[in-house]
Amino acid sequence: MRATVRDHPSPNHGPRPPGAAIRFVVLHYTGMASGAAALARLRDPASGVSAHYLVDEGGDILRLVPETRRAWHAGRGAWRDCHDLNDHGIGIELVHPGHDFGYRPFPDAQIDALCRLLEGLLARHRLPPEAVIAHGDLAPHRKRDPGEFFPWTTLARRGLAFHPRDPGRPLPPDPLAARALLLRIGYRPDLPEIGLVPALRAFQRRFRPERVDGILDAATMGRLAAVAAAAPPW
Ligand SMILES: [Zn+2]
Repeated sequence: MRATVRDHPSPNHGPRPPGAAIRFVVLHYTGMASGAAALARLRDPASGVSAHYLVDEGGDILRLVPETRRAWHAGRGAWRDCHDLNDHGIGIELVHPGHDFGYRPFPDAQIDALCRLLEGLLARHRLPPEAVIAHGDLAPHRKRDPGEFFPWTTLARRGLAFHPRDPGRPLPPDPLAARALLLRIGYRPDLPEIGLVPALRAFQRRFRPERVDGILDAATMGRLAAVAAAAPPW
């Protein structure tokens, strides 16, 4: 079933740089008390924020900004060799209260709709599953969304995200090695504004969500090695 998309234009966008290819899809949660409040903010010229799509909890999909335009969702951060994710990204907001208003699992209807939207996006822009990332992945020093309840395994089963199943074996924690493994996946702990602990926390939130504490224990080290070994090169 194709995703039905309704237009609710936001004025908050600009041109992409000439020739800028779309390389990533960035997933967010709205982190506000209600979907109506989030939609109003994403369309308010004074807020200076937007996304290309908004998926509500019932599975309705709204298009706020055309994909050809540069929406304002990612902000400061980096992933792989990309230092401006708005230039090269499609932003999708999921209506969700976030960590500040009662963090909870994402409804199935919302995830189903997101998957249908992603199927079309990845096909249209010829993007691999690893192009789909979390806002928290590119900006671990200041963002947590969509967070540890986001069902990456559901997306991965449908070929819509990179999330290898191998849990890895516990390994002796080694911060230097961990930094290199994070970098191989796409995290940027080498950038001073990000750093190792926030990048580790972001990694745990996505790949080892049982405990998100930024501590490099043996289980985190093992899972890190397993995920990095499976990560496509960049
Ligand atoms: Zn976000």
